Amino acid sequence: MSVKSDRDGGFLLGNALHDTLESVCYTDKFQKIYRDIATGVELCRQSCEYFGVCGGGAGSNKYWEKGTFTCSETNACKYRIKEVTNIVLEELEHSLSLI
Ligand code: SF4
Repeated sequence: MSVKSDRDGGFLLGNALHDTLESVCYTDKFQKIYRDIATGVELCRQSCEYFGVCGGGAGSNKYWEKGTFTCSETNACKYRIKEVTNIVLEELEHSLSLI
């Protein structure tokens, strides 16, 4: 949360001494981040055949790899989701004599 970012002015969303968790959710900054992450998840839903396994990925990977939450594929998901899924499916197909 304390990582600096020039793009969105950092990720500090409130102050635990003065704000409630609920009040932070209504700030412009939180709402923008929330919308951007939801847009990225929707891009994944529309474009990725692994969406059912993944659910749209990690916003942090998207942000730090591509500089935005509003994107789909990242290197992290290629290696953490797609390759692992491919290996598991291939092993299942072998074990069931499907290939
Ligand atoms: S595997 Fe990658 S592209 Fe597919 S839904 Fe997950 S994050 Fe999105």
